[in-house]
Amino acid sequence: MFCPNCGTEVHEKAVVCIKCGVGLNNPTPKYFSDQPQPKTWLVESILVTLFCCMPFGIAGIVNAANVSSRLSVGDVEGAQKASQQAGKWTKWAFWIGVAGVLIYIAAIVALVSFTALLDKRW
Ligand SMILES: [Zn+2]
Repeated sequence: MFCPNCGTEVHEKAVVCIKCGVGLNNPTPKYFSDQPQPKTWLVESILVTLFCCMPFGIAGIVNAANVSSRLSVGDVEGAQKASQQAGKWTKWAFWIGVAGVLIYIAAIVALVSFTALLDKRW
C-alpha cells in the first residue's frame, strides 16, 4: 500500500509511514484523534454548587453530565456545546459566590466599624 500523505510505498502492516511518519490505519476513533476532548467541568461545577452558588452550579452539573453522555454516543459537536454551557454556568456560579463572600465581608466590616463608632459616642 501507499502512504496517503506522501505516496511512499510502505509495508501492508506498517503503523506509520517510514518516510514522513504519518499514522497509517489508525484504529483510534476520529473524534479521539483529531479533536481534543471537551472539558466536562464536572468537578468544578460540583465545587461551586457546594461552596458558591447552588442554582447556577446545578446548571453547570447538568451540562457537565451532558458532555459525557454526548461524548459516549460520539456527538462531539454537542459535547463541545454542552462543555461551553457548563463552563459558562460554572464561572457565573463562581463569580457570584465570590461576590457573595465579598458582600458578606463588607457587611461584617461595616457592622464592626458601626459598632465601634457607637462605642465612641457613648
Ligand atoms: Zn508518508
